[in-house]
Amino acid sequence: MNNPCPCKSGNTYKQCCYPLHLGNEIAQSAEQLMRSRYCAFTKNDNEYVYVTHSPTTRENISLDAITQWNKQCEWLGLDIRHVDKHNHVVEFVAWYKQDGKLAFHHEVSQFKQQTIDTALIHRLTNLDESSAWYYLDATYPEKVIKMPQRNDNCICGSKKKYKRCCG
Ligand SMILES: [Zn+2]
Ligand SMILES: [Zn+2]
Repeated sequence: MNNPCPCKSGNTYKQCCYPLHLGNEIAQSAEQLMRSRYCAFTKNDNEYVYVTHSPTTRENISLDAITQWNKQCEWLGLDIRHVDKHNHVVEFVAWYKQDGKLAFHHEVSQFKQQTIDTALIHRLTNLDESSAWYYLDATYPEKVIKMPQRNDNCICGSKKKYKRCCG
């Protein structure tokens, strides 16, 4: 709880994504929602990922599919690459291991503020909000992502060398 938040915001989990996962707060920006969704993956809170997916596009996914995917991933770190506050777009790289091999998920996510739907409401405790940020959809840029080298700082944010940490 007092450990650094997995989203690498620099705050503790308790001060960062935890209140959102609890439903005591909702995200105040696209970036905050993005961070909390990544963090929910690391905490195996697949339902949070599901209910913060926009009702407009939620039919494209299922809680079961999210859960199955997450079971295969050991999440290591999040790098926010670019935030476009005007267009509510966040580009990020999420690092994980699958079958012991380092991999990454590079995505440009589109977020949208919408009327809160029942799926999200049921996660919230007594919040007097009528709209919330949702994840709408994504594109996948074909940029080269530099894989961490043995002596690089670890992708998890520990400030240790990759080879002595997650490598
Ligand atoms: Zn966080
Ligand atoms: Zn590490």
